[in-house]
Amino acid sequence: MKFSDLNVESKIVEALSIYGLVEPTEIQIEAIPLIQKGFDVIGQSKTGSGKTAAFAVPMLEKIDERVNKPQALVLSPTRELAQQIAEEFVKFSRFKRVNIVCVYGGVSLEPQIRKLQRAHIVVGTPGRTLDHIRRKTLDLRNVKIFVLDEIDRMLDMGFIEDVETVIRALPKEKERQMLFFGATLSNAILNLANRFSKNLEFVQTETHVSDTLLKQCYYDVDFRQKFSLLAHLLKKEKKNKVIVFCNTRIEVDLITRNLKKNGFFKSAAIHGGLTQARRNRVIQDFHAGKFQVLVATDVAGRGLDIDDVSLIVNYDIPKNPEDYVNRIGRTARAGNKGKAISILTERDYEQFQKIMVYDLPIERLEVPQIKRLKFERDGVAKRPRKKKTPRTIDDNQIYSSYCL
Ligand code: ADP
Ligand code: MG
Repeated sequence: MKFSDLNVESKIVEALSIYGLVEPTEIQIEAIPLIQKGFDVIGQSKTGSGKTAAFAVPMLEKIDERVNKPQALVLSPTRELAQQIAEEFVKFSRFKRVNIVCVYGGVSLEPQIRKLQRAHIVVGTPGRTLDHIRRKTLDLRNVKIFVLDEIDRMLDMGFIEDVETVIRALPKEKERQMLFFGATLSNAILNLANRFSKNLEFVQTETHVSDTLLKQCYYDVDFRQKFSLLAHLLKKEKKNKVIVFCNTRIEVDLITRNLKKNGFFKSAAIHGGLTQARRNRVIQDFHAGKFQVLVATDVAGRGLDIDDVSLIVNYDIPKNPEDYVNRIGRTARAGNKGKAISILTERDYEQFQKIMVYDLPIERLEVPQIKRLKFERDGVAKRPRKKKTPRTIDDNQIYSSYCL
């Protein structure tokens, strides 16, 4: 099966092939024809299975290049992801004249406002998109297609109200098409989709990464051995890219600092507490292979599509099964092999049980003899007391409070 067999416009087929997309993935085979026919679609498939192209390709076909008005809107929970989606749109529309504009918080509004005047497709985070709608700098009157990507995470992050406000600002139902994509589904998602769409079709393909490509395992260690074990694992993974996930940004900074102190100089941190410019830079450098180990929070690591990440380490056990699935989805992408290792301590047992709901093939490994390294907690600010999240449309704040 080729993209041309799905009756995809030849200019798009040509662009796809330049980037190595020739044979559509399962979710693309299922979702593209439905979207082409105008159905509302909920699409669920594992991370790395090509959901972006599944909606981006038929959307691009529906854009009228002569009308310089936003005709499609995509919401995505994080800035990194929004940028990544926008970049895919740019690639796939290489032979068309389509303006793609990405809007997210933490940077100034003015350049976005200027670009929005000529946008055909807008990709944004909920807070900043809403901000533009309220300022009347984003005109939704011509929007025919609306996509919620990573819908599972969007709801987890408490964006439901913002998302609903955006939906209510869209043209009425019969003139618009609604698409919902994610790696996991919940009743809340089905509920949202049912409330706002008619013609709803449900597409579900491979929901888990195949265990021939992705090896999942865990170590059960003493709390004081955690860092030493991490260092041991990284030493064995010298050449390849690794992402280490922690649950808080403080922990991310702490681990990164200690890694550097122990000779892992090619490490960098990413989390919502860094400036947008810094985060972009880190991702670019990681892409380019300028450093080897990326230490990340869930939000910052969400949906990142970086080739050749061969190992994921859960330094902290994720808070829920969805986060686990999304973390491990950063490796074994596009047919490559990968490994996901969780570092478990006694206090994580209960949490780990919760993750096992999917009946994932996770193997226990014996803890090897490891050299005990010094782990310094000095110089790190105390964890701030949890404040109630203010309801605000500033993306930055929503983002920050989630990361804490
Ligand atoms: P998801 O959103 O399901 O996590 P992405 O859309 O980010 O997955 O795609 C993951 C990777 O697979 C990307 O690098 C993308 O370019 C690549 N990809 C997508 N579709 C195809 C295809 N049909 N053939 C080859 N590679 C593909
Ligand atoms: Mg995706």
